[in-house]
Amino acid sequence: MNKKRVLSGMRPTGNLHLGNYVGALENWVRMQDEYDCFFFIADWHALTTDYADTSHVKENSIDVLLDWLAAGLDPKKCVMFIQSHVPAHAELHLLFSMITPLGWLERVPSYKEQKENIKEKDLGTYGFLGYPVLQSADILIYKADFVPVGEDQVAHVELTREVARRFNSLYAGPYASVSMINDFYVPGTNIPRGKEIFPQPQSLLTPAPRLPGTDGRKMSKSYGNAIMLTDPEPVVRQKLKPMVTDPARIRRSDPGDPDLCPVGDLHKIFSSPETMAKVYEGCRSAGIGCIECKSWVADAIVKVLNPMQERRRKYEDNPRLAWDILEAGSSRARDVAGTTMNEVRDAMSISLDYEPPKDSTQ
Ligand code: SF4
Repeated sequence: MNKKRVLSGMRPTGNLHLGNYVGALENWVRMQDEYDCFFFIADWHALTTDYADTSHVKENSIDVLLDWLAAGLDPKKCVMFIQSHVPAHAELHLLFSMITPLGWLERVPSYKEQKENIKEKDLGTYGFLGYPVLQSADILIYKADFVPVGEDQVAHVELTREVARRFNSLYAGPYASVSMINDFYVPGTNIPRGKEIFPQPQSLLTPAPRLPGTDGRKMSKSYGNAIMLTDPEPVVRQKLKPMVTDPARIRRSDPGDPDLCPVGDLHKIFSSPETMAKVYEGCRSAGIGCIECKSWVADAIVKVLNPMQERRRKYEDNPRLAWDILEAGSSRARDVAGTTMNEVRDAMSISLDYEPPKDSTQ
């Protein structure tokens, strides 16, 4: 009951690949036993960059959910939901947008970086600038203790902490407005209760190994070098066959070094210590060929993917099951978010409750 709460989300970009699995999903599956986990499909976030064509958002959301379930996320252990099914995220986003200085958003590194790198879309929108505020709302509405992130997302969690501090100091801290002073002091004393609406979440840095794609660059769907979680065994083997190797191994008789080879990197993540030992020995002595070495890594990857694809089939055969999981998760999320929003509205003096006119109470 007293587990710390974790919040994390993924944009619905369609089927996930092995890089998504080792970079995040595998960690989420572990965390669901240790933490009170809320995982959401960030469909509104997808719109911040892909607002022009929304035709695939829903379909992609279901694909992501199927991959989550396939990877081992269990609705009995964690809450899985769709962001847009919890409209309170939007309300809190709006309220936070009132108190977030523009300068904080313009400083976010990924804002500048994406604006420079994504030229094919017009990202000069209000939604794109404000998406870290939406992220803050996503996190704070569940009062998450931890947010699992990679290095590049730490700045977003720091912004979330700043938003929480600013909200607390404006509306809920010991220095909140005088009209609320009685609520925030221990009755009969001048001791501040220190009641803050929002805790400050912490980044949970997840060391994610860099997973190379078949061309040696970071695995990414947009590079066309990814092994998908849904790829059947023959496709996995076919994709690995032409994978780049240590450039020093030009001929079969040339020795190589698994530490300089992308296939070696895959072995380090997926293969057993025994196979690793064979790879090091065989590669450095030119005792094995790259084709054989790739077949070993294919064996190891297929061993990870097979049980996932087995689990996925259950939901593919009955898609309603997956949708029901999302509905139940979204309903649970709405309950938690609703409780927070009541506190938020109370603190900001915009509660939904009837209050008699002030002079009628005198
Ligand atoms: S034997 Fe394996 S590790 Fe060595 S270069 Fe070939 S593919 Fe890479």
